[in-house]
Amino acid sequence: MTDCSFWLYWLIFFGIILGRYFLIAGGTHLLFYSVLENSFPKRWLRLKPPLRRAIQRDINLSMLSGVVFAFCAALIISGYNLGVTLLYTDLREYGLWYLGVSFMVVLVVQDAYFYVIHRVFHHPLFFKWLHQGHHRSGDPTPWTSFAFDPPEAFVQALFFVGVVLIVPLHFITLIAALMTMTLWAVLTHLGFELFPSSFPRHWLGRWFIGSTHHSIHHRKYTVHYGLYFTIWDKLFGTHDPNYEKEFDSSLRR
Ligand SMILES: [Zn+2]
Ligand SMILES: [Zn+2]
Repeated sequence: MTDCSFWLYWLIFFGIILGRYFLIAGGTHLLFYSVLENSFPKRWLRLKPPLRRAIQRDINLSMLSGVVFAFCAALIISGYNLGVTLLYTDLREYGLWYLGVSFMVVLVVQDAYFYVIHRVFHHPLFFKWLHQGHHRSGDPTPWTSFAFDPPEAFVQALFFVGVVLIVPLHFITLIAALMTMTLWAVLTHLGFELFPSSFPRHWLGRWFIGSTHHSIHHRKYTVHYGLYFTIWDKLFGTHDPNYEKEFDSSLRR
């Protein structure tokens, strides 16, 4: 990888991150809120259509998140160039099996990290300046998936700065984890349920967070702090006991 100045990296990553946001969040919004709008009449998790003003606010906040995430991405790549990260490019170094294992490790550790910081964000001391922006729009839309106050965006992005210093990761694994984070966030902020009615009771589905699960968080604030998996909410008593019932009622709406 050729050396490049920090701010040039920042600019390149800012473009990539914003492009990814508008493509995925915007594409999902266009697809489900316009093209396929009438294909999901019984699965909406929101009672009213989203306000244009709320979407604009989420986009503005997401652009600020892009500034912060690009800064951390530039830190990571500069660290790689200086040889201080454990990122690697040669697939043979750890073997192909390690790609899958390290990918799962990143998701599990990120989920635990997110659960802890998310609970801290909701503490009255921190909520206003760390996390209020993400909740401002009420019922989420795909545009909310990256809408974080800059300090929250920094704490979230810091996970990736830290993980590349501790866990050996191939660039493919890092990109796959970032893509999973993006797609999962859009899924959990869809504003309607995509999964079948058996999902919250399914032996595997019950361990994964979907749209209904996260929508309940946006409404109640006191439950469902996880990112990918329901394990931490279940272990620490922040799992809504009415989740299954709410899931059923969302399918009847
Ligand atoms: Zn959210
Ligand atoms: Zn929250």
